[in-house]
Amino acid sequence: MHIGVIGCGQLARMLALAGIPLGIKFSFIHDDATQDTRCVDGLGAVISISLYDDVSQLFKALGEPDCITIEKEQVDSELLAAFQKHCHIYPNIEAVKACQNRNAEKQLLDQLSIPTSPYLYCVTAQEALEKLKLPMVVKSCRDGYDGKNQWRLKTQADVDAFDRFVADSRGTNSALDEYIIESWVSFEKEVSLISVRGINGEITHYPLTENIHEKGILIKSIAPATQISEHHIECAQSYTEKLLTSLNYVGVIAMECFVKGDELIVNELAPRVHNSGHWTQMGSITCQFENHVRAISGFALGSTQILGVAGMVNLIGSNKPPLMEVSKLSKIYWYNKIVKPQRKLGHINFLASDYQQLAKEMGIFSSI
Ligand code: AMP
Repeated sequence: MHIGVIGCGQLARMLALAGIPLGIKFSFIHDDATQDTRCVDGLGAVISISLYDDVSQLFKALGEPDCITIEKEQVDSELLAAFQKHCHIYPNIEAVKACQNRNAEKQLLDQLSIPTSPYLYCVTAQEALEKLKLPMVVKSCRDGYDGKNQWRLKTQADVDAFDRFVADSRGTNSALDEYIIESWVSFEKEVSLISVRGINGEITHYPLTENIHEKGILIKSIAPATQISEHHIECAQSYTEKLLTSLNYVGVIAMECFVKGDELIVNELAPRVHNSGHWTQMGSITCQFENHVRAISGFALGSTQILGVAGMVNLIGSNKPPLMEVSKLSKIYWYNKIVKPQRKLGHINFLASDYQQLAKEMGIFSSI
């Protein structure tokens, strides 16, 4: 079995590190000249897309993988379609396309009657204000992740300033070519559901994960999420099952949600392994990376059972792994990236027997 991964970042690295012990071979498609490939050093052939005009040649250079998967949403769907003549693409192109544009993603959620924050597509902020209430948030349809290319509008002055900004930057800021404006949700907490669907249609879910973000960036996760009802869990699982089945999806998917009272409001989908599922590397029988590899290889899925109470802290902008501080209940995962401020450079996973012990363990890392 040979898997080709589009992208050479930390998710590609961790997919390979989980799949190599299963006897699977990996190769990587370097499709973004601005990104280095150090995360996947030594894990398989790295082939730069810029060297090939012809996808057949690119496919040969990769070593003719059995299937191709992705480690990020923003992949060229024409490239996927060209690869599909040679091998399987998991998740399928329709699923990737639906998740790579926020408007398409919202439409998909609406079609499946999955609750999401009310939104409008490419209208002025003033027009949005006639239908939605302040505060609102503007999100680029394609160029936004980790809170990038998002603008929060809290006052009429913000609305006016945003409309002027759009008028002034037309044609010069591609993030504003397509955007949605949505209502701000005053949520109690953010959770995500990581699930996996096999080629035979079998679906399994990890426990809901609680996520803490700062300035749109995930800082830490705890699983199982605290103060969550059975109702929230049932809603989350049923929404994901509808999505996976209707898209005939194969692999891991992440669904990020806001919890507001009894409501579970879906914020975003990621058609791939996800940062909020990193705790599974230590906290579950089969981690999300191995389960993605198993799903797309056509193997039986592994158990998603949690082994205790698990946590994850991202190492953002730190210049080296904090090896001296790591305790008996934690493990460091360093990505081998070039150090830059605000960059996710690694993470630490924790496994404890209860939330009190977990909080004590994770506490010392809260300042990182
Ligand atoms: P996103 O890029 O959509 O995942 O947004 C990044 C983070 O911004 C989320 O994890 C939330 O913390 C926050 N956020 C995004 N959209 C909303 C919203 N409509 N209401 C409240 N918070 C939001």
